[in-house]
Amino acid sequence: SGVEELLLSCIRDVPDHPEPGVVFKDITPLLADPAAFAALTDALAGISVRTGATKIVGLEARGFILGAPVAVRAGLGFIPVRKAGKLPGATLSQAYDLEYGSAEIEVHAEDLNAGDRVLVVDDVLATGGTAEASLRLIRRAGAEVAGVAVLMELGFLGGRARLEPSLDGAPLEAL
Ligand code: 5GP
Repeated sequence: SGVEELLLSCIRDVPDHPEPGVVFKDITPLLADPAAFAALTDALAGISVRTGATKIVGLEARGFILGAPVAVRAGLGFIPVRKAGKLPGATLSQAYDLEYGSAEIEVHAEDLNAGDRVLVVDDVLATGGTAEASLRLIRRAGAEVAGVAVLMELGFLGGRARLEPSLDGAPLEAL
């Protein structure tokens, strides 16, 4: 579609970042283009409506940049899921494996509750590890998963297959 072409045209491939052999998808040209950023926000807000979401979770850090305007546009609250040690209040934490070592994400426990339907927003789905951990957090908080919405899915990394069991029938939408 026209929107997909517009969005794709605003993403820059950066070879060998952050390490040799990786082609990093840089979304900063899209953020700097007001028409593209608005089209992306509208598309993600549309997904939040279609999935019946009642809250938007954004994954640090680019999920904050994309998720916050979506929440405002959709009239929903925005909940940050942060790297461990950043949130000041009582948190739920979820560890997950990386290629080398592990990482941990957290959410304020009071922000997600039974009865909430949560849409997770991020820029890129790569291996799916970060999104999978966020779905665990949401379910452990007693909330429901409305879906996962990303700008881009790197299909060759198999994130969709990894995420599928945790989605439990909820949609994964990649623009
Ligand atoms: P995963 O956990 O799916 O392997 O990695 C996804 C996380 O890493 C996302 O939060 C995403 O922001 C970041 N990420 C991984 N690869 C890229 C990339 O090529 N471009 C951007 N912008 N983010 C990436």
